[in-house]
Amino acid sequence: MKILVLGSGAREHAIVEALLAEDAAHEITAAPGNAGIAARVETVVLDPSNGKVVTQYALDYGIELVVIGPEAPLVAGVADALRAKGVPVFGPGKAAAALEGSKAFAKRIMEQAQVPTGRAVRAATLDELTAALDELGAPHVVKADGLAAGKGVLVTDDRDAAVAHAEYYLQHGPVLVEEFLDGQEVSLFFLADGHDVVPLSPAQDYKRAFDGDAGPNTGGMGAYSPLPWIADRWVAEAAFVDEVLDTIALPTVRALEAEGTPFVGLLYCGLILTDAGIRVIEFNARFGDPETQVVLPRLATPLSQLLLAAATGTLGRMPYPTFTDEAAVVVVLASEGYPENPITGREITGLAEAAEVPGVTILHAGTALADGRFIATGGRVLGVVGRGDGFAAAREATYEALGRIRLEGGQYRHDIAERVAR
Ligand code: AMP
Repeated sequence: MKILVLGSGAREHAIVEALLAEDAAHEITAAPGNAGIAARVETVVLDPSNGKVVTQYALDYGIELVVIGPEAPLVAGVADALRAKGVPVFGPGKAAAALEGSKAFAKRIMEQAQVPTGRAVRAATLDELTAALDELGAPHVVKADGLAAGKGVLVTDDRDAAVAHAEYYLQHGPVLVEEFLDGQEVSLFFLADGHDVVPLSPAQDYKRAFDGDAGPNTGGMGAYSPLPWIADRWVAEAAFVDEVLDTIALPTVRALEAEGTPFVGLLYCGLILTDAGIRVIEFNARFGDPETQVVLPRLATPLSQLLLAAATGTLGRMPYPTFTDEAAVVVVLASEGYPENPITGREITGLAEAAEVPGVTILHAGTALADGRFIATGGRVLGVVGRGDGFAAAREATYEALGRIRLEGGQYRHDIAERVAR
């Protein structure tokens, strides 16, 4: 199949690897990709958020499926442009992508679909904000209402810090103050074709920058899948997944369909398992990063078939995807200063040695090749994925590989999946 993957992160690299693993004969192009992706498939320099350019490329080269990785092209309406010309595309149109792009829209859809979520109050002024903080009490949860790459959320006991965070985002628009939800966090992906929905396997990610969940929120510092502890409460993973499908994913997709904004693509459910039940903390409209890096390597069903079925409205005819039992761990190597002020431009060495560790795949995020040398170009530089028979083995492989990689000032968490490896 001729597939165009839009994006340039480790998530897109993971998608490319999964497609190649399924069938090395796929003709895959990534736009714009990164140095790691370019070592595996063809890459083209084009703006992934320019619907006109992307559509023209897809038509010129007879692309049979476009997979949109990041949120920016979705919110820019790239899927709409492609669909208007009859190109099968995995990714929602602009209107349905507002499920991620606008927290207020997401809350309205959740209300309509009766999806369990925390209480939220919208504040457009400082007075409304302080009233909301008082009403909902501490710990305070303050969220920017637009896309902020996972960095617009502050959870704090410090009221002054909550006000300061909100003041910054209030310059750009309203903020949401939310009820604090206490419990384990789970990310669960669903593929949707506008009407039908099929689940993937759950993962847990680590959003905070430093060990022990210290430091600021980031785009994600690591993840693991599956979640062995889910069975303590739900008997089996399948029972948990079914509950989320029935009470959250399907009602949401059906509510969007009823609104005339069908959701075609990946519905990412960010969940908190509270004592009172499962609650949605956020939806995303695309594959999660870094969870994708641990979910896709475990997928036994061919990924291209699933994505194409979603893109062409035929998911209902597909059997549910199946997964291997192996454990997968990803640890993100970030540049010094990430997330606030990442220092980029430094050389990365030891990649070949790291890739030799059995069970390890190195996924590139912010990298470029300059004069034959790999250079860090972003905050999150690499995702090192380790797979194994159990989490102890998967972690050992991951950290062994990380130890072989050199990046001046590079930082990563040492406690990813520690809790499940004992
Ligand atoms: P979000 O960007 O909405 O996923 O939020 C980023 C992180 O903030 C989440 O992964 C949670 O750790 C935390 N968070 C968001 N909303 C809440 C909430 N209502 N209660 C507790 N923690 C939250």
